[in-house]
Amino acid sequence: MKVYLDHAATTYVDDEVLKEMLPYFTNTFGNPNSQHAYGRDTAIAIDKARTQIANAINAKPNEIYFTSGGTESDNWALKGIASALRNKGNHIITSKIEHAAILESTKYLKKLGFEIDYLSVDKDGVVDLEELKSLITDKTILVSVMTANNEIGTIQPIKEIGAICKEHGVLFHTDAVQATGAIKLDVRDMNIDLLSMSSHKFYGPKGIGALYIRTGVKIDNLMSGGHQERTKRGGTSNVPAIVGMGKALELATTNIEEKGKKIADMRDYFVNKVLEKIPYVTYNGSKTNRLPNNASLSFEFVEGESILFSLDLEGIACSSGSACSSGSLEPSATLLAIGKAPKDAHGTIRFTFGKDNTYEQIDYTIDKLVETIERLRSMSPLFYEFKKENENV
Ligand code: PLP
Repeated sequence: MKVYLDHAATTYVDDEVLKEMLPYFTNTFGNPNSQHAYGRDTAIAIDKARTQIANAINAKPNEIYFTSGGTESDNWALKGIASALRNKGNHIITSKIEHAAILESTKYLKKLGFEIDYLSVDKDGVVDLEELKSLITDKTILVSVMTANNEIGTIQPIKEIGAICKEHGVLFHTDAVQATGAIKLDVRDMNIDLLSMSSHKFYGPKGIGALYIRTGVKIDNLMSGGHQERTKRGGTSNVPAIVGMGKALELATTNIEEKGKKIADMRDYFVNKVLEKIPYVTYNGSKTNRLPNNASLSFEFVEGESILFSLDLEGIACSSGSACSSGSLEPSATLLAIGKAPKDAHGTIRFTFGKDNTYEQIDYTIDKLVETIERLRSMSPLFYEFKKENENV
């Protein structure tokens, strides 16, 4: 059996989305900036996608700017605001558990003389609003806090953060790459000035994303070039991808709460069975305020990579919580920030469910996981020591 439980890494393109995209690779191929019928046809398609995306987050279509994905949107938000507001201040606040696209951008800005503060999080991964208030000064130009964490699934109090920023006259950016298409977002109600999203996380194509920029927000361009995206982001538009992203987000946000509940029920079934059948496991992140599809579990006395490889051999795809995949042996900064000991952080696995997973697949995964953990622990010197000590008590 093959089971894909890594939907936070990426998703496949939905059939309906692909169908919508296909004509734009062949017959309807014009450059949307061309002054003829070919160009008009693709320009109309882009307008439609922009409206679909704006509607999904309660923005206006002219507040949506297409980018190459979440990484570019995050880079643009931070570097573009930093550059535009350099004369106003040089202080940016973010959190310790952001995606590398944010953390690396802040490192870059630090080299240019910006001062960055990183909000700490509690054991569930939630930022401290009082700490945020205490860090804002008259030099603060931007706060960037992710809507939902990619590793542990915790959702931040975005509306409250937005309100604090608004009260202090500071711009608020949120990396909503994991949240878009998974939970309801409303940029007006949540006081969001800039929001990053990425199509391949919600059954759209890869290499396309968007940055929502509220009307009136001053931002410098990341990409200099032609007049595309109202001169803010030059480069011939990737029409089929834009069309696909618009359709994918429209589909994902139709009955979003109902779909979320269905997937959360499956996730909860999985987590409850695992906690019942396997001892010494912790369920990471907030139990109440989390993405419907995310289960992050730490298995004591075993290495996440060993679990990952064993499950891979059984046809099950998931992801390890440590940063091993990024070429580092350091445990994940997010897991350390929520207070995990490095040894437990190393034994962490992220399972992220998708709309087409079945209970049969979940039962199969539970069986294979039970077998895998038992086998790995039987070979683990750490587990042996633990048992010896416990038996002596
Ligand atoms: N931000 C978060 C929270 C993510 O999870 C990801 C991707 O995993 C990104 C940004 C980067 O998005 P993209 O792959 O579209 O560049």
